[in-house]
Amino acid sequence: MAGVYIHIPYCSQACHYCNFHFSTQLKSSAQMLEAMCLEIEMRKNELPQSLKTIYFGGGTPSILAVEHLHQLIEAIKKHFSVEALQEITLECNPEDITATKLNDWKALGINRLSIGIQSFFDKDLKLMNRIHSGKQALESLDLAMDYFENISVDLIYGIPNQSDAEWKQNITTITDRKIPHISAYALTVEPNTALDRFIAKEIIPPVSDAQAEADFFELIERLSIDGYEHYETSNFAKPGFYSVNNTAYWTGASYLGIGPSAHSFDGEVRSWNNRNNHKYISAINEGVLPIEREQLSLRDKYNEYVMTALRTKWGISLDQISARFGEHYNDYLQKMAQNHIEEGLLSYDQEMKTLSVSSKGKFLVDGLASDLFLIELQSSNS
Ligand code: SF4
Repeated sequence: MAGVYIHIPYCSQACHYCNFHFSTQLKSSAQMLEAMCLEIEMRKNELPQSLKTIYFGGGTPSILAVEHLHQLIEAIKKHFSVEALQEITLECNPEDITATKLNDWKALGINRLSIGIQSFFDKDLKLMNRIHSGKQALESLDLAMDYFENISVDLIYGIPNQSDAEWKQNITTITDRKIPHISAYALTVEPNTALDRFIAKEIIPPVSDAQAEADFFELIERLSIDGYEHYETSNFAKPGFYSVNNTAYWTGASYLGIGPSAHSFDGEVRSWNNRNNHKYISAINEGVLPIEREQLSLRDKYNEYVMTALRTKWGISLDQISARFGEHYNDYLQKMAQNHIEEGLLSYDQEMKTLSVSSKGKFLVDGLASDLFLIELQSSNS
């Protein structure tokens, strides 16, 4: 089973913390859509398996005209096998959500919305330069629930000047509505973003790791009481509402990324498209894929598996490590994990032969995974 990811490289305005690829100039959007449909056709043989999921991410896919979304979905259906398709997700922002659009999206076969709410408080939204207000966030969520059952809400925690009570209120607003899926991320200061500059100039207070950690554990506790499963570090779902797209990605399924800056993976080769909108359109129109490819070594694949699996509730399977990479990788992993098991940050399940992060280690998962990476070549087959 496989997935197609479509990167829509446009946003109405730039959020202060964002380092994704997007442009606020929509002039080229019609040409862009033509180019993306052409890219789908040019790459139709790269994904022989039937599609399980289509994901519109970005950028802000919800600013696209419905005809453009229709054009993309039709191009995918024309060139790929979609009999087993389970999920079509659209990332959308509150300011774009209207009854008309919700109707249109549903008619296109979109069956899951991922709404970029981030916070219900105006002051937080202003600090991050989001377009929507807290009131719009609430109204759009309530409206979306009239049309879609499968909804995910994005929240950001660790926001400077946000009180504990406000963070708890953000969580309650979601749980009271029984929204089935939540993705929550710590506010991260990426280099060369507006947030980075404002913090350096002391216009915005610095982001506090301690605050982010406290918010994260508050979230885990509250959502577990409300029956959500913490199935990946940043993702929580009610039973039956795991994201098909993300789960496929975390479990190593192949996916094809269409559009500027989109990444693809077929189990052996990772590739990524040029992120410049103009260069992307020109290359496609000349019949050339604007793509760079990297053949993954066994060591790269091991590191990647460790990073993604450790973030999931299923953890790292030692049997899979042996089968896919060989016994010396298994020995290496166990040796590197030992200290963290003794510190109580990782836990080993004897029966299942899996290595997972413990509750104590959850906030440190990326650092723990990198401690398990194989950095240097250990033998001729690595
Ligand atoms: S809407 Fe999303 S992609 Fe666009 S600037 Fe904001 S965070 Fe970045």
